This record gives sequence, C-alpha cells and structure tokens, in this order.
Amino acid sequence: MSSITPQPGIMDIALYQGGAAHVEGVSDVVKLSSNENPYGPSDAAVEAYRRAGYDLHRYPSSDHARLRAAIAEVHGLDADRVIMGAGSDEIIAFLCQAFAGVGDEVVHTEHGFAMYRISTLAAGATPVEVKERDRVTDVDAILAACTDKTKLVFIANPNNPTGTMIGGNEVARLADGLPKQAILVLDGAYAEYVEDYDGGAGLVDSRDNVVMTRTFSKLYGLGGLRVGWGYGPKEIVDVLNRVRGPFNLSGPSLAAAEASVRDTAYAEKCRKDNARWRAWLAEALAEHGVPSDTSTANFILARFADQDEAEACDKYLKTQGLIVRLVAGYKLPNCLRITVGDEASCRRVAHAIGLFKGGAR
Ligand SMILES: *Cc1c(COP(=O)(O)O)cnc(C)c1O
Repeated sequence: MSSITPQPGIMDIALYQGGAAHVEGVSDVVKLSSNENPYGPSDAAVEAYRRAGYDLHRYPSSDHARLRAAIAEVHGLDADRVIMGAGSDEIIAFLCQAFAGVGDEVVHTEHGFAMYRISTLAAGATPVEVKERDRVTDVDAILAACTDKTKLVFIANPNNPTGTMIGGNEVARLADGLPKQAILVLDGAYAEYVEDYDGGAGLVDSRDNVVMTRTFSKLYGLGGLRVGWGYGPKEIVDVLNRVRGPFNLSGPSLAAAEASVRDTAYAEKCRKDNARWRAWLAEALAEHGVPSDTSTANFILARFADQDEAEACDKYLKTQGLIVRLVAGYKLPNCLRITVGDEASCRRVAHAIGLFKGGAR
C-alpha cells in the first residue's frame, strides 16, 4: 500500500446510485426512476441549445449575467444574489466546501437527498442525520440536533424521496431557531411543482441565514445539461463565488436555461399536467392497496407491506418495461419512488401494479 491517501472522510462516501435507465432484454422501457420531465425541455430551450452550437469555440460567460437576469426577472429576485452551478448539486458542494470543514457538523434529515451527506464528507465535515416524523421534516428534532458546531442545515422542501413538505411558518421557525453560526439551506428542486410557492425566496430576502437552491433538472427538463442555482444573502453568495470555477457552466447550457426559464407558459403546462396525473396515479395505486403520502412533487412514494413486497414489485415492473426507484438507500426499504410520467406511463404503471397486487409475479 502506498502512502498516498485521500483526505479524511472521503472513503466514507458511498457512490451515488442514479436511477436505472435500461432493462436487460426489454426494449420499450419507460423510465420513471429519476424524476425527469416526461415531456422533455421547452422547444425554445432546444432551439437555443442548437444555436449555441455555432459558438462552441468561445469560452462561455463567467458571470452568467444574462441567465441570472432572466431568473431574477421571472422569479422577482435580486440578480446580484443569484449564483449558478453545474446542477444544484454544485451549489450544495460550494456550500459545504466554503462553510464546513473538519470538526464541523452538517445536519440533514433522515430521508434527505444523498448529496448533502456526500458533499459534507467531501469537505471533511461530519454529517448529522435527524429523524423525520412519519416521513415529514421535523423542525423540533432538527433544532434539538443543532450544536455550536453546526454550520449548515439542509432540508428539501418538497423533500425527495418522500414528496412531503412543511409550511412556511415551520420553515421560518427553523431559520429563526438555528444557532447563529449556521446557515439554513432550502433545497427547492421541486418548488416549481407547488402552486403559488416561491421556494423560500421570501425567507431568503427577510433573513441573513437562509440560502435557497433551485434546479433546471426537474420541471424544466434539462437534467442532461446540469444547470442549477442558488439565492442567498449577498455576503454568503460572495463567498460561494470564490470557490466557483469561472467557467462552471457551458455556453449551450446557459443559452438553453435562459430560454427555458423565459418559457413560463410551458412551465405552467408541465406543472398542471403533473398535478393532474400525480393525483390520478396516487388514487389508482391506493385503489390497488398501495398507499402514499400526499405528494407535492413530481413523484409518488408508494408504500408496500414490507421490503420483500417492494422488491418483488420492482422486479415485476421491470419485466413490464417499467423502471421505478428502490429507495432502501434512503431508509425506505418498503417503498418505491415512482416519477409521475405522461398519461400513458401513469396508466401503464398503475395497471402493472394492479396486476402485481392481484397475484401476477
Ligand atoms: C434532483 C434533485 C436535485 C437537483 O440536482 P441537480 O444537480 O440540479 O440536477 C437537488 N436536490 C434534490 C432534493 C433533488 O431531488
């Protein structure tokens, strides 16, 4: 063994497991495992991406001014306090890198997004996991877990993979109760799916310890491009910009994201369709004896009797060309996370689960 060794914490990182995309021997598969937009990106975004192809010899903008201005305009925010990342994953990494190190603690919830723990360990800090209450973020438990070493507290609202969310008053109570050296990070990856919800932007504006993260990977259907952003107090965003690489987003990504955020009609259509088919799917599964919590996102967390049944159902769905997500890694071994697809996909997955519950295996 050589004496070359990584930083402490790195070897504790379990590799991120993405949603599967293929089934051996099945050609007509429907991928419902990564919360992608079933309708794809806006036509305007694809067109902007194509046009950007003629400028591939140029370095992209390093201040992302045009895209930040578009985001600020559409969402009613201060463009100077928006920071772009290669996916919101990169914003999460910047936060950990800039604010947490050896000896510091980073709090996340029991069924919280995997990247919080990964980025915490990568920064050398210590992840602290807090129990949820029946798959819902528990503000009191989070506050009780904070210490004078807590530097960051991550919650996703709505949360993935539970689909649940907590109200604005609860989030504000969390922000106000944190120790003064800690930042509350509100991960709004699914905020666009919630009607009349600002993702926590108002709380960012009225506090000095709250940062919001957002993404183009979900409702905007641009997961393949890697575009996310953060919004926070000026002092914090200035810090994050110091660790950000100058060309962290490519030119085509910037162009497509800008066209995408400006296509508000398409975003609204996707939000509405999702709400409609999410309700339909939840009800259809409930009728087949598969309950779920009320989801506020673009997926449903279907609960089975136990781990064996969830795994058997996952296996059966695969034989039917339907790929969903096992979430045992999120401490939900009896559940399957199912992305809300288009009408045909929702009908297919509901039908297949009905057959499975009826004895087909
Ligand atoms: C999908 C997701 C993200 C977004 O990741 P990107 O890096 O922007 O693609 C962030 N947080 C949660 C909770 C997610 O589910």
